Amino acid sequence: MSYKVAFVTGASSGIGEVTAKKLLQQGYIVYAAARRVERMEPMSRLGIHILSLDVTDETSRHAAITHIMTQSGRLDVLVNNAGYGAYGALEDISLEEARAQFDVNVFGAMRLIQLALPHMRAQKSGTIINVSSIGGKIYTPLGGWYHGSKFALEGLSDCLRLEVAPFGIHVVIIEPGGIKTEWADIAAAKLLKTSGHGPYAAQAHAMAQTITGTLSRRYQSAPELIANTIVKAVTTDRPKTRYVAGLGAKPLLLFRRLLSDRLFDRLIRLTAKRAQK
Ligand code: NDP
Repeated sequence: MSYKVAFVTGASSGIGEVTAKKLLQQGYIVYAAARRVERMEPMSRLGIHILSLDVTDETSRHAAITHIMTQSGRLDVLVNNAGYGAYGALEDISLEEARAQFDVNVFGAMRLIQLALPHMRAQKSGTIINVSSIGGKIYTPLGGWYHGSKFALEGLSDCLRLEVAPFGIHVVIIEPGGIKTEWADIAAAKLLKTSGHGPYAAQAHAMAQTITGTLSRRYQSAPELIANTIVKAVTTDRPKTRYVAGLGAKPLLLFRRLLSDRLFDRLIRLTAKRAQK
């Protein structure tokens, strides 16, 4: 086997876009997928294969994997990166929006894994990268369904790692901190639309400011940092189970481990206040 094939979801911007390019530089045949195919046109000029994919749509998911297998005959790396933050007060978010959050961040990723696994098992090798978040370990106010989806992805990935290890397949969780992408603007817009009026309005405006404020923007890490981390995970023989990288990620996860819930609540409130500048 002289070539390796990688499939990256959520590749029309941010972490996914940079990861697709970095994997290409590493010599992978790369399939980059998202709904906004026009955004990925420049990548196709680099030699990356562009796929239209809505991770919530079964026909679309099936077509993507079938296309890759028909055209390239193997799948070595699946990067489940597509995701967004359905921010808003838990009292305000409709169950429809909550389900949509899980459909993208959890079920979309897990279904692509189901479709990829028979091929990886037949090859007796493969690496599944699930892009979670430090938000899969810690929590913030008004981010309940987002955190819930990432907590779920973390637990599912841990179970999966044990299940597929006997087939020679690695499962790796990536836990980014604050990264400079479109994520924050999308989350803040959803937050203000959902809870910008009514009993949670003050919290919502403060939180939107925390997410998108100048302080956050100034110190957010570049998506290259996460893309490099993913490349490291897929090119090493024995990848770590989790990689933590990006603004605030390591200290926040350390504090979560060391502090009681009440003390961590205080830390989160304090961090949010400082970021509202
Ligand atoms: P971006 O908003 O820049 O990129 C998100 C990508 O997900 C886009 O390419 C978007 O493509 C894709 N996407 C969203 N919904 C769907 C869908 N239904 N079907 C297919 N693709 C979809 O954000 P990031 O690059 O930051 O996010 C990548 C991952 O990193 C996400 O899982 C996010 O939760 C996680 N993360 C991000 C952090 C950050 O601070 N930025 C921190 C921690 C984790 P399109 O709309 O064209 O379909």
